[in-house]
Amino acid sequence: MVAITASLHAIDRILGAMTDADGERLRKALHGGQSAASIARDLAVAGHDIHQSSVKRWRASHTPTAATAPRTLVIDIESSPNFAGIWGLFDQNVGLVQLEDVSHVMCFAAKWLGDKKVHFYSEHHDGREAMIEAAWRLLDEADCVIGYNSKSFDVKHLHREFVLAEMPPPSPHKDIDLLTIVRSRFKFVSSKLDHVAAQLGLGTKLKHQGYEMWRACLNGDEAAWKTFRSYNIQDVRLTEALYYRIQGWIKGHPHHGLYGGDVAGCPNCGSSNLSPNATVPAGVSMFAAYRCDDCGANSRSMKRVGVTTQTRSA
Ligand SMILES: [Zn+2]
Repeated sequence: MVAITASLHAIDRILGAMTDADGERLRKALHGGQSAASIARDLAVAGHDIHQSSVKRWRASHTPTAATAPRTLVIDIESSPNFAGIWGLFDQNVGLVQLEDVSHVMCFAAKWLGDKKVHFYSEHHDGREAMIEAAWRLLDEADCVIGYNSKSFDVKHLHREFVLAEMPPPSPHKDIDLLTIVRSRFKFVSSKLDHVAAQLGLGTKLKHQGYEMWRACLNGDEAAWKTFRSYNIQDVRLTEALYYRIQGWIKGHPHHGLYGGDVAGCPNCGSSNLSPNATVPAGVSMFAAYRCDDCGANSRSMKRVGVTTQTRSA
């Protein structure tokens, strides 16, 4: 036990003795995708004898645990376009042989719901391998994943990168795809994140040059990457703000009670402040209903009350 504590402190001491830039790099590696073995090797090269198991324990002791809520990741990826040889602009039917290059994940921003820190990884700043490993680690840890079109876009793009890299599937998570929720619950003139967030007074996406920014980033342009990074991070912040704004509207939200929260509390936000509401029918029975005083979500008891019919529609 003493040795473990000593080695944990040893990593903190190494961090404390490093220059800001080196310390930041090591912190990013410790919190990010680089494997414990590879960090231990890097530390050995720098003259520090730290076993990889100590790196793992340092990680475990520095990862906040959410005792009463699902560990929820908010994520947004940016991907490159597909490139193809084409002879016209309108009504093109591009064959597979015309494909010059296929889309890949260029970077992603992610944050744990409620945490301040936004993680950002890119092929430009971190290298492809570290970026993909970091995404895998975050998804693997997540109970829930929040994004805008994340279920069919971001998560699937990442899954493709994982299988290409011969990685196993990350542990399962529940998707909370805000685009699907916005489309099913509200009629905005546009369901684009920029529009919906602006309408709800949450702010807007960062303005940029459009396609030219992607092109410049693919060419390794430092200034373009700076904008791209801010754009990506802003999208994640906006997505988180939107989640909190419409939290009470999300039907079938993973129940906080399953993750250590109040099993008789609000499924959506975990609050124990529920006010009785009118009873609601479900199937052939009536149930007691509640409204959350905090997020406004409607929920109902699992126990039947009042009438249960003796016939049902056939
Ligand atoms: Zn609630």
